[in-house]
Amino acid sequence: GKKISNAVNGALNNSNDDFVASVDNMLKAISTALLQNDVNIKLVSSLRSSIRNKLINGSSDNASLPQQQRKNLIQKTVFDELCNLIDCKSSTVQEFKPRKRTSNVIMFVGLQGAGKTTTCTKLAVYYASKGFKVGLVCADTFRAGAFDQLKQNAIKANIPFYGSYSEPSPVKVAMEGVAKFKKEKFEIIIVDTSGRHQQEESLFEEMIEISNAVKPNQTLMVLDASIGQVAEQQAKAFKESSDFGSIILTKMDGHAKGGGAISAVAASQTPISFIGTGEHIHDFEKFSPQSFIKKMLGLGDIDSLKDMMESVKHDKVAQEVQENMRQGKLTLLDFRKQMEMVSRMGSMAKMTQAIPGLSDMMGGNSEQLMQSTNQMFKTLFYIMDSMTKKELNSDGSIFFKEPSRMARVARGSGTSVGEVEGLIQQFHQMGSMMNSNAQRKLHQEDLMAAN
Ligand code: GDP
Ligand code: MG
Repeated sequence: GKKISNAVNGALNNSNDDFVASVDNMLKAISTALLQNDVNIKLVSSLRSSIRNKLINGSSDNASLPQQQRKNLIQKTVFDELCNLIDCKSSTVQEFKPRKRTSNVIMFVGLQGAGKTTTCTKLAVYYASKGFKVGLVCADTFRAGAFDQLKQNAIKANIPFYGSYSEPSPVKVAMEGVAKFKKEKFEIIIVDTSGRHQQEESLFEEMIEISNAVKPNQTLMVLDASIGQVAEQQAKAFKESSDFGSIILTKMDGHAKGGGAISAVAASQTPISFIGTGEHIHDFEKFSPQSFIKKMLGLGDIDSLKDMMESVKHDKVAQEVQENMRQGKLTLLDFRKQMEMVSRMGSMAKMTQAIPGLSDMMGGNSEQLMQSTNQMFKTLFYIMDSMTKKELNSDGSIFFKEPSRMARVARGSGTSVGEVEGLIQQFHQMGSMMNSNAQRKLHQEDLMAAN
């Protein structure tokens, strides 16, 4: 993503007054960047000509626009064209909307390791939260331990499940599971299937047999976003034997470039419905073409950041902490609660992806950033877990009055006195920052009152 925004900005900043030359300059830079992000070469060249057409033949006024507006126009055109590419609204595929009080069967397909079993549970939890009665069926009898994996996930998520340790036929297990859940009036029945390492003939035959047996209302293809260019060919191969109605893109949290997914969508003419953003059950989002492209272009995703902020705003704990802050009565316990919220909001790395420019500022290495941030949170919680109630309910000055407390906490948490001291200083810095904010606000109010 970083490379694309850099390329575009670089080309735009260097553009001269000749409009056609500056468009071509920019298109060259963006094409290179898209190719580096695994977008297929044919797509890039068709994209290039459609953007060029829009900008140069679209309106003769474009050429006379001032530099900044011209830059905005070019960026917007690139953005829109990319969104169009992965937004299959115009295609014949209808979005799947399960109906209540009837049994909707959803079947998962995809290669081994793509994330089917993990995503099955994520989708089950998603629909359960919308009030559907959801059940999971494990029709993977190929891989040893497949049923246990699904079972563990299902138990954790509190979703009823069906599978067998002894029945060797995936078709039979799938049929039995679906029949059982249908009888019990389940509204969503998700069938997990096996995947092989390769797209063997036998995998496709098994898929077709299961599909014929359970007659899914929706077939979902799970695609690993990190596989790059191969995604296109994989989606095509699956589409030939199973007419899946949508794609779920997994592992969007890593350094997946995502460009391969665009090619997969274009090749199979099938929309992406959800994305997986981590190994946890809740690392799952509805797919939005706009935020996907924004991320890829390095434009940041303000919308998802706003959502995160919004969810914290309504949090009771957050309100309590804010109230204490406002009154200048901040304790270490408040600090701990606040840090818990931040870590719950998602890793810092995810946040930096959402804020334009921030990732670059941090050196662009989100993987490393994520690891060091997670470690920082862990240390922070270890330290605070070793504090007494009295210490937690204080403003921290007690540690400086009685330094032996720091040594005790360091011992208990397996950290150093320096780390404990660092944490308390960090907390004090935050406190004084809040204080000066509050004072500034008071000062402003004074001024306003005086006027
Ligand atoms: P299956 O063989 O298709 O059923 O794939 P699994 O569901 O067993 O997943 C394979 C691996 O990918 C597991 O280690 C999962 O935890 C991991 N995985 C699945 N989805 C995601 C995701 O969205 N992000 C990350 N980081 N890992 C994922
Ligand atoms: Mg599996």
